[in-house]
Amino acid sequence: MIIVMQTTATQEQVKKVEEKLVALGFKTHPIYGEVKTVIGAIGDKRLLDTQMITSMPGVENIVPIMKPYKLVSRELKQSKTIIQIDDIAIGGQEIVIMAGPCAVENEEVFFETARKVKAAGAKILRGGAFKPRTSPYSFQGLEEEGLKMLDIARKETGLKIVTEVVDTRDVEVVSRYSDILQIGARNMQNFRLLKEVGASGKPVLLKRGLSATIEEWLMAAEYIMSSGNPNIILCERGIRTFETATRNTIDISAIPVVKELSHLPIIADPSHATGTWKYVDALSKAAVAAGADGLIIEVHNDPSRALCDGPQSLRPEKFAQLMEELKPVALAVHRTI
Ligand code: PEP
Ligand code: MN
Repeated sequence: MIIVMQTTATQEQVKKVEEKLVALGFKTHPIYGEVKTVIGAIGDKRLLDTQMITSMPGVENIVPIMKPYKLVSRELKQSKTIIQIDDIAIGGQEIVIMAGPCAVENEEVFFETARKVKAAGAKILRGGAFKPRTSPYSFQGLEEEGLKMLDIARKETGLKIVTEVVDTRDVEVVSRYSDILQIGARNMQNFRLLKEVGASGKPVLLKRGLSATIEEWLMAAEYIMSSGNPNIILCERGIRTFETATRNTIDISAIPVVKELSHLPIIADPSHATGTWKYVDALSKAAVAAGADGLIIEVHNDPSRALCDGPQSLRPEKFAQLMEELKPVALAVHRTI
């Protein structure tokens, strides 16, 4: 539930209410708005004597949160969350573009691709070092050697790094070499992993599960946030439907729906959504028009030689052209790229 404090409530009064809630066994999450402070209280509401709380100085009223997810909900926090990574703000006015190959394969291809996506205007470099492949016989990633290449590329280009972590045991090492921890679609409901990245405090890119409903996806985000990490970026990457013409079906409507239900930023991944580079252009534009706060796009210097997801990877020149064409689309929805 939400304890709404009066506009005139003092910090001391907010603290007192929090202390009382904690004593009753609740976890508290104060949110300091421009006008008033609200306190999210998570716990067994049967233990709460509402009368006692509402009679405390500075308390305006108590509002229940009806949704099963609490901390990530708009009910709790009405203002949009902006994830700040140094000078990059995800969820703000600017649409943030993340780009790079599916996997880090070798230095030559990786650094060349990194330089080119940077020149085209990407702010964040992607590249998997731990790859969750459908087949155990497919390339599984360079692991720590790949992470080191990500780190070198970060220092050389100034780009921030997003990379996937697939195992609780690797959260520490992946955090050391990256700026955003990616939780892939296949791990969206790996609850131990969600808690672990929650405890790390690093920004998390949480991809939507292959067949996850929006509610299940937001519940997964709730796991991360209730473990103490508010820095979550959601990513629509296409879901399983009966359609086989594309690898997945992008759920464009998830973008406005999530924005209504949650205060978290949401980006789109047109590469995994389609599986085909030819469609990436159209879906990138559609996602931006629908209100996405960013895009994550697979770009490879030589897609025909890629060890992973070549068919859906854009060549750097095509990516640069797309970046230009996205600008008027962003402008039309009062955003910038
Ligand atoms: C990826 O980003 O390379 C990836 C494996 O994505 P997803 O988890 O969405 O399939
Ligand atoms: Mn991929």
